[in-house]
Amino acid sequence: MRKTTKKVYVRNVPIGGNSPIAIQSMTNISVTNVAATMEQLENCRLNGCDIMRIAVPNKESVSALATVRKQTDIPIVADIHFDYRLALAAIEAGADKIRINPGNMSLSQLDSVIDCAKEHSVPIRVGVNSGSINKEALIAAKGNKSEALCSSLKSYVGYFERRGFYDLVLSVKSTDVRETVEINRMISDFGYPLHLGVTEAGLLRQGLVKNSIGIGALLLDGIGDTIRVSLTSDPVDEVRAAKDILISLGLRNGVRFVSCPKCGRCTIELEAVAQMVYDYVKNIDKNIKIAVMGCEVNGPGECRDADLGIAGANGNYVFFKHGERYKTVAASDAIEQFKKEIDLLTNAD
Ligand code: SF4
Repeated sequence: MRKTTKKVYVRNVPIGGNSPIAIQSMTNISVTNVAATMEQLENCRLNGCDIMRIAVPNKESVSALATVRKQTDIPIVADIHFDYRLALAAIEAGADKIRINPGNMSLSQLDSVIDCAKEHSVPIRVGVNSGSINKEALIAAKGNKSEALCSSLKSYVGYFERRGFYDLVLSVKSTDVRETVEINRMISDFGYPLHLGVTEAGLLRQGLVKNSIGIGALLLDGIGDTIRVSLTSDPVDEVRAAKDILISLGLRNGVRFVSCPKCGRCTIELEAVAQMVYDYVKNIDKNIKIAVMGCEVNGPGECRDADLGIAGANGNYVFFKHGERYKTVAASDAIEQFKKEIDLLTNAD
């Protein structure tokens, strides 16, 4: 059962309430390179990203952000550290949400940011992380890091609420998977939408594993409203990974893609075929299951619940639906014909 949270809007994308879980990523280049930034934003959007974050470390970045804002409709979050004036300027430049760590600002500076965000109806993501933990909170929590982060966040939320600001998205991030899960469980009753992710998770493979475990465990608990899979990689990899997590858990429409691990019975170039089929279906937003199997001996049976499947068969390919073979196709023609079958299936309604 999904936890109930307040709904906030980042431009036209809702986060929280019963809204679909939004996918986020972040550009990994300077926004002052506007053309390259636009390319990353567009690639991420085409692959299913709902919201993009952009680092705004200086005044030049604010000007570039304003230019980028005019060239795309994708909701943009301005990522601000330390300098509250950049937060104000980013909001004025058209950011749809800002991400700050209130611990990096004086209270009067924070007040200015809150007032400006309120005036422009811009939500604020309040992010604290294990790297910037408050020493007093840590002492008060007797060294328990999770409790210290939770109480820091609680006191920030109270401060925003006392100023009449409620358009909050909360995040507490850690590089440790267990800690990420533990803290997010602790803050899941605050009533505000949660941004999930294991931060600084590493290169593609390690990052995928850590984020899948951390984000997946929380989503299965009904916790989380927006996710970012943090990877040392292309932002598109983050988006695709986030999408796969959501599709795997039935939380987003999309093709559930299945391929077998391959064994000595396989007579086809399974990896190549699976990759071709996956590339063809990866951006289809229908709830279907497509299988690519190495052989006809076990393939169809092992994928009884696949809407459509293809399996190697002594140099040819068999096509199957829901575990039943229905035709055999010569290898030279199989992939093209299979794509047509996918088209028929996805255009069926
Ligand atoms: S489908 Fe065939 S090739 Fe693939 S793992 Fe099963 S038995 Fe082996």
